[in-house]
Amino acid sequence: MKQPVIVGVTPLYDIQRDSLWMVPGYMDGIVDAGGLPIMLPLTADQQQLEQLIDRIDGVLFTGGQDVDPAVYHAEMLPSCGEICPARDAMERVLLRLCRERHKPVYGICRGIQFFNAALGGTLYQHLPVELPSEVEHHMQAPYDCAVHTVSIKKNSLLHRILGKESAAVNSYHHQGVKTLAPSLIASAFAPDGLIEAVEDVSQPFFLATQWHPEFFFEKDADSRRIFRAFVQACAEKA
Ligand code: MN
Repeated sequence: MKQPVIVGVTPLYDIQRDSLWMVPGYMDGIVDAGGLPIMLPLTADQQQLEQLIDRIDGVLFTGGQDVDPAVYHAEMLPSCGEICPARDAMERVLLRLCRERHKPVYGICRGIQFFNAALGGTLYQHLPVELPSEVEHHMQAPYDCAVHTVSIKKNSLLHRILGKESAAVNSYHHQGVKTLAPSLIASAFAPDGLIEAVEDVSQPFFLATQWHPEFFFEKDADSRRIFRAFVQACAEKA
């Protein structure tokens, strides 16, 4: 029997309740794409993460709290939201291990922000203050509809996945990529110029989007295409 493709999913952490939790769409989107998701424990213990990563085929970096500006060597502005040092610590180790082992990774929302910050880029701490625009980046629920378009860089991984140069996406974020990390390329842009997707072309599959396919995949073929491409890359590494 063929082994299932196992995708590790970074846990969400409710600091006030001291509780790990999960948005079902992260798991369901992976299942819909043919993978088997498993929520990882919240730990920055390198040995534990090494043991886990050797048993999984890829990692989905989920949304969540703002990245601590200390990660990108910036002062925290008053408009920065709640941070989660435990997730920053975990994801720093996990991202390094994934990259060393060439494991497929896909980052969503906080995921694109964390990848960029951890790899040497910087973030806008609050877009309405630092990059005011007419584009609706912080939509109200429900999140299963598109609120702005993105233009997609030709010949990028995202372009190959979606097969087009423009897509309509949902948007639920108040931070964003400011200066791009040296090892990343930007592969999608909102109409106001904000970077909405990044890739590392030196890795087999390294993609992050500022938008949220986990809220949209049941209705939106593009969201399903992204989950499928990611799970397919995980299958190739399995
Ligand atoms: Mn947006």
